[in-house]
Amino acid sequence: QQATIELNRPGFWSSLALWKKILVGMALGMIAGVFLGPDAEILKPIGTLFINAIKMLIVPLVFCSLVVGVTSMQDTRKLGRIGLKSLVLYMLTTAVAISIGLGLGAFFQPGEGINMVASSAAAATSEAPTLVQTLLAMIPTNPVSALAAGNILQIIVFALGLGIALNLSGEKAKPAVELFESLAEGMYKLTEMVMKLAPYGVFGLMAWVAGKYGLEILLPLIKVIAVVYVGAVIHVLVVYTGLISVLGRLNPVRYLKGLVNPAAVAFTTTSSSGTLPATIKAAREEMGVSKGISSFVLPLGATINMDGTALYQGVCALFIAQAFGIDLAFSDYLLIIMTSTLASIGTAGVPGAGLIMLSLVLTTVGLPMEGLAIIAGIDRILDMARTSVNVCGDLAVSVLVGKSENELDETIYNRDSSAAVAE
Ligand code: ASP
Repeated sequence: QQATIELNRPGFWSSLALWKKILVGMALGMIAGVFLGPDAEILKPIGTLFINAIKMLIVPLVFCSLVVGVTSMQDTRKLGRIGLKSLVLYMLTTAVAISIGLGLGAFFQPGEGINMVASSAAAATSEAPTLVQTLLAMIPTNPVSALAAGNILQIIVFALGLGIALNLSGEKAKPAVELFESLAEGMYKLTEMVMKLAPYGVFGLMAWVAGKYGLEILLPLIKVIAVVYVGAVIHVLVVYTGLISVLGRLNPVRYLKGLVNPAAVAFTTTSSSGTLPATIKAAREEMGVSKGISSFVLPLGATINMDGTALYQGVCALFIAQAFGIDLAFSDYLLIIMTSTLASIGTAGVPGAGLIMLSLVLTTVGLPMEGLAIIAGIDRILDMARTSVNVCGDLAVSVLVGKSENELDETIYNRDSSAAVAE
């Protein structure tokens, strides 16, 4: 009775903070999915609507905010320093993530007792690009077609170049800089509007996933799923919060609270590029990272920093080796760390990209490609965890770089949650 009255009170739902609405949407979606089973597919269009709306933001948002990110840093040395700091932190956390994945995979042995036999006809399901190809492909021969095709890496390269050039052009380029600034503002507003759809979109997506993967499909592979999820939690709770408190000397609880929104969007959309609007919003409004830093560090991170993907590749490589009864030497482990780091950089922030890059890791280490097929069945579930970690990592690095550059507004960062709920 009490609860009904509460719910009927006008404005109960609308006065709820967005992140709470998203969590409610996620929980209700899961319940609906379990009840409806495969029929939950009918709820998927609500999720697709949200994903399409968020995809609509990506290209103009990344482009404008990166240009503005660069033009807001007139000082090229500062720009270089921030770029370097971000890169070092991105690489370091990625290497730690794979090590956690390998450690957990070796300890829990998720592939033990599966006894698969590799057929000689094992063939790659899809070709993974080489490093040189990846690097060359970063430069757009035609920036307009890069924008039209939504090639984020190429857009980043062009936007960085254009931003630096506008800086160097001085007075003459002022109107262009202002144009980008006001476009970027508009894109942030549009992001806010689209994010209001998140609770409903998340509901539809969660219902679909829970309905599609009933418990029966999951059981045999539950160990791999559990190991990836445990690794994801450890990486966020130990590595990121550790860095935030030790390196950044900041309260890690505030970081964890601030990441709920983007992590929930990442979890359900399985795309860090798609989550970028939510990530930028959280970095600025929840964590107080300056516009300059967040516009520069986050789009970069959403494209090259994939800790969750790296962790997943570590676990899956070991799982496949165990399932096929292949012993790995110490040098194989090092090879996995190296290729996974590179593969995770080359992974696009889109759903399922990590699975394709896993084939690169498997080929390099000489593990059977058929392993991919087993993983593919549950990849969406694993993608949800790894994408969330990817996004949490980008946020952690933006906070750390912001702090070290004196571009973190600690009054926003430390603002207590009651103030955040009232907003
Ligand atoms: N879906 C992931 C992301 O967007 C990439 C991956 O598949 O690992 O971050």
